[in-house]
Amino acid sequence: MLKCPNCGQKTERTRNFACQWCAYPLIPKEYYWEPIVYLLAITGAETITVIVQPLWGIVCHTIILVAAIVHSSLASDYRYRHLALSLALVPLVRIISLCMPLANIPQMWWYPIIYAPLLVAALMVVRILAISQGRWDLPSAGYRFSSP
Ligand SMILES: [Zn+2]
Repeated sequence: MLKCPNCGQKTERTRNFACQWCAYPLIPKEYYWEPIVYLLAITGAETITVIVQPLWGIVCHTIILVAAIVHSSLASDYRYRHLALSLALVPLVRIISLCMPLANIPQMWWYPIIYAPLLVAALMVVRILAISQGRWDLPSAGYRFSSP
């Protein structure tokens, strides 16, 4: 049984990799590499966007987006599925922001135009994740918070 570094109690991980008493994240070390790989890929794609050419950046971000979606659909563990699907939103931000024809539109309208489709995508991801877990109350489910 693990000892929580936050509350000090002996605990087990919940389904969401958190301490059962204080919800402190207790993520196994073997799960660290996937977010790091995505982080490096997104950083590389962003570097290509800025240094080489935006078109190649869009290509790289599209590859990451497709990889995240495929990874999400093929992963056997639901935690990987959720992580990959959530990370698919990151390259989507850049693809949308680079692909929108905003040159003749006042700058104050850029953000609503760019983020409206992203908001729809984020709501779809939340809906998919909530449905796959059979619940809608994502933030509080499975956690126990100690009262002050
Ligand atoms: Zn704890």
